[in-house]
Amino acid sequence: MTRRVTVVGAGLAGAMLAAFLARDGHDVTAYESRPDLRRVEIGAGRSINLALATRGISALRELGVMNEVEPLLTPMRGRMVHARDGTTSLQPYGNRPDEVIYSVSRSDLNGVLLTAAERLGATIRFQQRCLGGSIGAGTLEVRDDTTGASHQIGFDSVFGADGANSPVREMIVSESAASVSIEPLDHGYKELTLPAGFNGDPQLDPHALHIWPRGGYMVIALANLDHSFTCTLFAPVDAGPHSFAALDTAEAIEAFFADQFRDFASLVPDLSGQFLGNPDGSLATVRCRGWHVGDRAVILGDAAHAIVPFHGQGMNAAFESCSLLMRSLAAHPEDWEAAFSSFESARKPDVDAIADMALDNYVEMRSSVADDRYLLRRELALELERRWPSAFTPRYSMVMFSTMPYAEAQRRARQQSAILEQLTDNVNSLADVDFDRAAELIGGLTR
Ligand code: FAD
Repeated sequence: MTRRVTVVGAGLAGAMLAAFLARDGHDVTAYESRPDLRRVEIGAGRSINLALATRGISALRELGVMNEVEPLLTPMRGRMVHARDGTTSLQPYGNRPDEVIYSVSRSDLNGVLLTAAERLGATIRFQQRCLGGSIGAGTLEVRDDTTGASHQIGFDSVFGADGANSPVREMIVSESAASVSIEPLDHGYKELTLPAGFNGDPQLDPHALHIWPRGGYMVIALANLDHSFTCTLFAPVDAGPHSFAALDTAEAIEAFFADQFRDFASLVPDLSGQFLGNPDGSLATVRCRGWHVGDRAVILGDAAHAIVPFHGQGMNAAFESCSLLMRSLAAHPEDWEAAFSSFESARKPDVDAIADMALDNYVEMRSSVADDRYLLRRELALELERRWPSAFTPRYSMVMFSTMPYAEAQRRARQQSAILEQLTDNVNSLADVDFDRAAELIGGLTR
């Protein structure tokens, strides 16, 4: 049955969803508050590039757009850790050559999805901001940001892909028993650009995700196709001398980077100018219970499950959610209430799991990657996978290189972590690990 469907938000999840729904023959109109990013330059400072991994790729393949996405990708085979003294070491992400993640421009990827949605028959209306509405009455209030005029539109079903501050989620909460908790992180972020070198070559290895871990804070860098890197400082918002609150003058910023990130600072011209000119970013985990109202409204992506970015999974999870919602609609073509309900009940434990794993991963990235005990456990995890590939898969690989449900990856990772702890107790190198004991412990894992 063809339905008149409204999608609010045509970011990553909304554009993908509009494309899938139009492909299935629905009459789709998406309302996006921003201008069309294929025609205008979007300002700096909002995660310009992202890490794309298996879950996201799998959904892009399902939509049939990977041919257009592939030229936009820069593979990253591991973390390049930059120590304080300027030395670097590469920590590979996995055992196999195909276990890589990809740096991709947010706007280029979004552009491919918008074009696909339009090609498949969706209408995307830009600079149209949803102000709220009534799910019961099937109406939305939309403001045209080019004129300031508001008007009402009607819908059969509305899909909220309108990000972490979702107005559609607010409508759902006010018209049902749904509840939402927004947990702000006490660390924020700032984006900086590391340009190509004077000869046009990249100044860092583009095929790695660069990290400068410094315990309480860190800088990361991902390559862009033009040989620049988008870099992000993650640090406390207002606690201590290395917080954003304390970095409020050019002198304080220059001194901080010269002291903590000397090699990085030497590659970035006008560091303090960029720092003071670019916006501060805030981070939060959104946990919502009750993602839909009957068959009339549903949310997905950051609107339903925003997470902190430290596992590089927010977009990947949003794409995976689009694919799972479409499967649920295919399983209940005449009963969208059942489709929305089964989508939420199957998906909710998984997005809760990735929210927790993403929070855990912040400590790993900003601190553990420079710790010898962590490095030994990581080396051992890869060795155990080499020896017992069907029984042991490192957590990072389960999250990034598989489509195993996140909650299952979390459960297995907890069991495996206990094994890694036991095998590395009083051990200083891989050569000293008792692999007979490892075989026993791995034999006891539940699958
Ligand atoms: P959004 O991308 O927020 O899109 C929502 C859209 O809705 C926007 O286009 C917005 O303009 C529009 N909108 C909002 N309100 C309205 C309204 N009232 N009316 C109409 N339109 C509206 N994820 C990864 O997988 N890998 C990474 O490496 C990664 N890195 C990140 C780094 C940072 C610093 C941050 C902050 C996030 C990162 N993420 C990453 C997460 C990722 O950006 C999000 O999970 C993803 O953008 C979610 O997509 P979405 O479409 O649900 O929401």
